[in-house]
Amino acid sequence: MKVTDHIKKSEGKTLFSFEIIPPKKGKNIQELYNNIDPLMEFNPPFIDVTTSREEYVYIEKSGLLDRKITRMRPGTLGICAAIKHKYDVDTVPHVLCGGFTKEETEYLLVDCHYLGINNVMALRGDAMSHQNYFEAAKGGHQYAQGLVEQIADLNQGKYLHDVMEADDCADFCIGVAGYPEKHLEAPSLQTDLKRLKDKVDAGADYVVTQMFFDNQKYFDFVKAAREIGIDVPIIPGIKPIAISKHLQLLPQVFKIDLPEPLINAVQDCSTNQQVRQVGVEWCVQQSKELIDFGVPVLHYYSMGKSTNIEQIAKQIF
Ligand code: FAD
Repeated sequence: MKVTDHIKKSEGKTLFSFEIIPPKKGKNIQELYNNIDPLMEFNPPFIDVTTSREEYVYIEKSGLLDRKITRMRPGTLGICAAIKHKYDVDTVPHVLCGGFTKEETEYLLVDCHYLGINNVMALRGDAMSHQNYFEAAKGGHQYAQGLVEQIADLNQGKYLHDVMEADDCADFCIGVAGYPEKHLEAPSLQTDLKRLKDKVDAGADYVVTQMFFDNQKYFDFVKAAREIGIDVPIIPGIKPIAISKHLQLLPQVFKIDLPEPLINAVQDCSTNQQVRQVGVEWCVQQSKELIDFGVPVLHYYSMGKSTNIEQIAKQIF
């Protein structure tokens, strides 16, 4: 079932969902199941599975370092299929522009369709670690908007190089990313919002936000989005702080601000266990306020560990 149909069916009740990251190559999928198992009692209608960009590794060969390209966390689609069938839940693979040609994307989408996966998150991906700016793969999309257009075309039976007399057209529900504190490369929040509108006009059915710790940022973002005609569901993505290093890491990686009271509470902690508790309490308060606002879904970034999400969900759902 589509994410947007789950939202319609819930008739205004806020749903619980979460995002997981595929394990590193060589790890067993059981570890992932162990993290998902405790969250299933909160009835997530859908679970997102991220996709990682390729990375460079350096292999020593005859005294020289040979640079090879690799993907450390492959398997997004396989994990989506495995989870879908194990738990009877919808899964949302993240589909990236970065590192993929349009043809590779088309084949991935065809695989999704065969597997009965009809929700996808269309994302650009970040620049690789050695790059200053994002560069599309040769024959790939430069922006998520192009990827959305490709998926919307496929929904009409329009493949890249053929228009098929499709008797079983794909019908993807398309999610895209939104940034309450603006995307780090965008010159302004307003410009970024216009880009978001372009993605919605191109066929996106819903938006999931980047994490934020101050709900007012989300409320303002939704208001501004509605004012420029973005009328699809805007799902807040939130994450509990789990270690004191997050005070530096999260602003550095995601270019987001942390509220002063949260910073002070984390700085008053002497162990990471206490920090985790502060993170849970903050996220519970955020969740309650967002539910009062009437958000369709609360989407939690688990970052691979579910214990704190479980603690939060127990108090909310
Ligand atoms: P875009 O919408 O393409 O926007 C990127 C930048 O380009 C923005 O600054 C935008 O304002 C600008 N822009 C857009 N269109 C145009 C245009 N036509 N002309 C000029 N500028 C333009 N990353 C991963 O690698 N894997 C994941 O699984 C993943 N999941 C994510 C899930 C969510 C909910 C979110 C919020 C982010 C996720 N990301 C993921 C991170 C995401 O890939 C990065 O934030 C990336 O830098 C931008 O992706 P985007 O889809 O928002 O890009």
